[in-house]
Amino acid sequence: MSSHLAEYTGEGIYLTAHDEQYIDCASGTFNVSLGYSAKEVVDALHRQLDRLAHLTSDHTREAAARIFESMREYLPPHIGAFWFRDITGSTANEAAIRIAQKATGNTDVFSLFLSHHGQSVATTGVSGNAFRQRSFTLPFPGSVKIPAPDCANCFFGQTPDRCGLLCATRVADFAEFASSGRIAALIIEPVLGNGGNLVPPDGYFRELRRVCDDLGILIIADEVQTGFGRTGAMFASSGFARELRPDIITFGKGAGGVGIPVAGVLMRPELDVLEPWEHSSTAGANPLSLTALEETIRYIREHHVLDNVAAVGQPLLDGLRALERDHVTVSNPRGVGLMLAFDLPDAEAVARFLPIAKRHGLIMRGSRYGFGRAVKVRPPLIITPAQVDDLLERLRAALRTFEE
Ligand code: PMP
Repeated sequence: MSSHLAEYTGEGIYLTAHDEQYIDCASGTFNVSLGYSAKEVVDALHRQLDRLAHLTSDHTREAAARIFESMREYLPPHIGAFWFRDITGSTANEAAIRIAQKATGNTDVFSLFLSHHGQSVATTGVSGNAFRQRSFTLPFPGSVKIPAPDCANCFFGQTPDRCGLLCATRVADFAEFASSGRIAALIIEPVLGNGGNLVPPDGYFRELRRVCDDLGILIIADEVQTGFGRTGAMFASSGFARELRPDIITFGKGAGGVGIPVAGVLMRPELDVLEPWEHSSTAGANPLSLTALEETIRYIREHHVLDNVAAVGQPLLDGLRALERDHVTVSNPRGVGLMLAFDLPDAEAVARFLPIAKRHGLIMRGSRYGFGRAVKVRPPLIITPAQVDDLLERLRAALRTFEE
């Protein structure tokens, strides 16, 4: 191991770097969902590595099918097929787009302002994050961006009590005036993750589904961030966002439990249309990734991780609300489960705050999107109530220093 990497170790929610210990409020890259050391997962990975590090995907189809069966209890009932041949969320979203295009024979993909669906050419092209696109030519013919359900900065200048959910109903106008009329799918993160941790208002998912049904548009739920327990259900689509009834769900990040890359697609049975040669890669469906996926599901079940998210998410959000009362720079604490965030006054304040948080023992990430003033609070899903208190104490101390 390189001497530099050897200076990092992790246990549970803690990352130790160069002899300093931090609570990792970003769960790595929002992927270390079970913390750094979930024993059963790590042990199973060791066993698999001792046996065999690689098998080509021809040989892992049966293992993938078994893993899918073990997920079914957590899925919306209409989801009946899977494609587990990706190791990044970006290519899982590309698989989903391919599935939607092939199944419908249509081309266009709708997505939301402030969305982030990946870093490949296609997924950057359908993401609503202009700052990542400016230096490149990123053609995605038929990409149509629609206003996000961002109530604090409503595109239509409305307030939530009287807006009529224009950000959903107006999709029909975009279909009429901004698309080719051949729309394959709308892709949406149930909580806009990088876009500022934005949770849509009540009724949004239901209305969006109705409009997409009217227009014959498939819905892809990009659950790369929200999946695998982050919002308190295994998928947001079977939890707080169930009214979205997505035709296709993508996952990645937290699915690898301790940070092993694995990603995939879940869909209605009739959308199981891809041939292996239409979407595959060298490391797709490799045994280590599939072991991580299988053991992460088992760990979540056996350690009641979803119950833990529900139990600790609310006190953590309440704690952020208490910080809002005591600190003038903190506003708009928000989120679902352990997908939480608060705002500081502006992007410059966030840039100044993050190193201060680090000095107080917290690894935190901001958001560069929109107004760029969100600080995300997303510790591993196995955080205990006592550790939540510890996190909030450190955050309070960091804010005190920040406001001095
Ligand atoms: N979708 C969402 C919602 C994401 O947050 C990300 C990564 N931040 C991706 C897709 C892309 O995943 P990956 O980085 O694994 O390609």
